[in-house]
Amino acid sequence: MRDNIISKVDIIQIRPTEGKMDFQDYDKPAGKLIAFGYADVKVSEGAFFEAYEECYRYYMAISVDDMLFELRKRVGIANPPAAKTLAGEKGTWYGLGGNVLGQWLQAYARFYAATKRQEVKDKADALVAGLREVTGRDAQLGDGLFMYFLEKYVRGFLDCYVYCENEDAFAMAQSFVRMAMGSPVYTAAKKRLGDNGTMPVPAEIEWYTISESLYRYADIAELRNEREEAEKVRAFAKGFEYPQFWDIFYEGKNLFDYSPLAGQNTAYFHSYSHLNSFNSAAYAYQKSQDPYYLKSIVNFYRFMREKQELMTGGYGPHLEWLMPRTGMINALEFFHDSFETQCCSYAVYRLSDWLMEVTGDAAYGNWPEKLLYNATLASIPMDEAGHVQYYSDLNTDHACKHLHENTWTCCTGTRPLLMNELLRSVYFHRGNDLYVNLYIPSSLDFCGMRVRLKSEYPRGGRVTLCVEKGAGKRKIAFRRPESAASFSVHINGREEKCPVRDGWIFVERAFADGDEIALDLETMPVWSRLEVFGEGVAGLCCGPVALASASSADEVLSALDVGKEAAPQLEKIGPLQYRAKGSDVLFTPYMDYPKGEIYRAYFRYGGKA
Ligand SMILES: [Zn+2]
Repeated sequence: MRDNIISKVDIIQIRPTEGKMDFQDYDKPAGKLIAFGYADVKVSEGAFFEAYEECYRYYMAISVDDMLFELRKRVGIANPPAAKTLAGEKGTWYGLGGNVLGQWLQAYARFYAATKRQEVKDKADALVAGLREVTGRDAQLGDGLFMYFLEKYVRGFLDCYVYCENEDAFAMAQSFVRMAMGSPVYTAAKKRLGDNGTMPVPAEIEWYTISESLYRYADIAELRNEREEAEKVRAFAKGFEYPQFWDIFYEGKNLFDYSPLAGQNTAYFHSYSHLNSFNSAAYAYQKSQDPYYLKSIVNFYRFMREKQELMTGGYGPHLEWLMPRTGMINALEFFHDSFETQCCSYAVYRLSDWLMEVTGDAAYGNWPEKLLYNATLASIPMDEAGHVQYYSDLNTDHACKHLHENTWTCCTGTRPLLMNELLRSVYFHRGNDLYVNLYIPSSLDFCGMRVRLKSEYPRGGRVTLCVEKGAGKRKIAFRRPESAASFSVHINGREEKCPVRDGWIFVERAFADGDEIALDLETMPVWSRLEVFGEGVAGLCCGPVALASASSADEVLSALDVGKEAAPQLEKIGPLQYRAKGSDVLFTPYMDYPKGEIYRAYFRYGGKA
């Protein structure tokens, strides 16, 4: 019976095919487009491929005994002689358990789903087995039942069950969910607006993000014919939905009329976890089709893009706060914690992919595209000790890329997850029609057709889709990036006029083996600014790419007038490289800056003597 369940789940996850779902609510919108599974898209060249493989090798190199070191010590299980702690010199809670292990379970399971490499399945299975041994001494892994940890553990065990067919992993998920349902930490939770963790006992840390994992557990329990359990858990999950916050956007109210009632740094709402709460709203919409969820998600997403997004696609430019514009401008002038790079990108990738599926609107690919180049591919490599680029620095005085001083932060949990999520973001489909969202060099077999995408984009403007195997008449659609000033399409060298609908450029024909579609996207440098009454910060972007300069702010502001159109003031000296006319001020992609090298991306203007 279990094999049956797994294969059903696998069909949905790996190759969802419209009209053929046995369980179509399972993690899939009944929407206009469908994402592919982790294994469908093959990447084998280019910057994303290199980053993905680097990430894979990094996580494969971490020993499971090291991951378990602190947990085993805590519950009195002898550590093997070669094992060493990941706690680091500082002895912080990072690396000690639930902060990252739940997300690593997800990471290994999804790496396996994507690559089918046995070595990574072995890793996932070993981690599940080790955690199970620890629960023999302490069912809560010595961590208590922190909501932040539990949500990630439950999702991690479910992923190991679904993708690695690890039956013990389901039992572990079940144990955690049942413990939560029987614990006053959950049954008597205060669930205060904005509570992202109240010291000294932050049991309710980010309580509003957990319903998604609980709903997912319920769905999988139902697939195992545990219907009664599924219904109980759904009712429990419902209690952790977050209408206190979602209503603000559903009703179109002003966020800044509200303040968090509890938590760390309560002046403003915590951006990452509040955005991530909408991934729970998305899951609730899947089950209920209640338009309440979709409307609040769409309104929040619009708020984030119009009011909170930085030139790189980042958000939360100090203490990860959702701030009014003056606060954002001041934060960029005085602080260096401009964007929590990995976690915040991962949350956007997931929510955008979901909105893309439900609405079919190509506009939901624009924000992920910016983050792909200015966050994911712009991040400097992690070091062996577990330091990751946690923050992106956009300080107007001087900025540099740096690794966080703490080891094994949350962002070491989300970095491998976002790499796998991006595999699902490249293409979408509807029936036999293919939708190309992100221009990542890759190939795909789909409904009898095989395509290969080749591109230097965004360093070059041309994206070429080679149809290696045709398979007849259908539509192939390309997302028109919001940052492209214009576009043209050539099919087998001949220009064609193509219709644009919902942000997609459509090519429709009977495709033959060897057909080539070339999409040329024209981009030019433009200012991206945050301004209040003539004062603010401005930076240069070209297409989706943020540019930065090693020159001082004074040099840049004397060479360029931020009040005037950018392109006429610049001469192009290379791909995505510009010089301010009549000066030595150079701009190159922010993503190309190495660790420690000083740059400025934003420049403060107006309001100063
Ligand atoms: Zn993080």
